[in-house]
Amino acid sequence: MSLVPMSEVLIRARRGGYAVGAFEVWNLESIQAVVGAAEGLAQPVILQVGPGEADYAGLEDIAHAAIFHARRAKVPVVLHLDHGDTFERVMRCINHGFTSVMLDVSHLPYAENVAATKEVARAAHACGVSVEGEMDRIGGGEAGADVTDDDAHLTNPDQAVEFVRETGIDAFAVAIGTVHGFYKGEPNIRLGLLEKIAARVPIPLVLHGGSGTPDTDVRRAVEIGIAKVNICTEFVAAFADTFASEHDEQDFRYNVPGVFVKPRAAARKLVEKKIRLFAGL
Ligand SMILES: [Zn+2]
Repeated sequence: MSLVPMSEVLIRARRGGYAVGAFEVWNLESIQAVVGAAEGLAQPVILQVGPGEADYAGLEDIAHAAIFHARRAKVPVVLHLDHGDTFERVMRCINHGFTSVMLDVSHLPYAENVAATKEVARAAHACGVSVEGEMDRIGGGEAGADVTDDDAHLTNPDQAVEFVRETGIDAFAVAIGTVHGFYKGEPNIRLGLLEKIAARVPIPLVLHGGSGTPDTDVRRAVEIGIAKVNICTEFVAAFADTFASEHDEQDFRYNVPGVFVKPRAAARKLVEKKIRLFAGL
């Protein structure tokens, strides 16, 4: 139990035909919401921190809080760097106890992406840390940049095989039409393409842009081979929307439980709903 490398939970998930939820955390309440939900359902979970959350909370601060809760948890918990922007940030995360990292240099030409990801995999594996890699750009906001539909590419299954083999990554992020943030139009998830990728790539597959993706598509994607689903926007929205709207005047008498209890409970409920969906409960 407690803090584990990502490979440990994802290999089991892909074999077992279920997926583990990965939720963006930025403070104590968000960590409590995620770990509390996972413990309540007796399921593994992934706490993830992107550059934005790390810069907001302070990398050391958020790492300490997450690791404390992970170690105490009654279920396996992973601490993952989501969309790491530089080699240095990846190294800082490993140094602060993250058990999984991702370097997102999918905006670079293919050969440079392979070289940089391979370097990260070598360093991380030497420290017992898992690595997620991304070959194609995923639509919506990514690593602080807006990826237009023209820039977002769908994963080529043959190239995915080569990318995974050359880099030595443990988990592969697919580009099959999901977007970061909420969808602007109707989602068009290419499940046929995912089948082709899953047939060729045996390592756990990761679905980015899980927020707002229809439940039926997510279920089917998990059956095909998705072992990790990232949820950021919907989780933040559960917290923020509740914070903004669902309080009565009494709650805002400037006392701490009054203001923060409802947002945390709403965030936890969202995590429970997603874990049930991913695990097929
Ligand atoms: Zn992502």
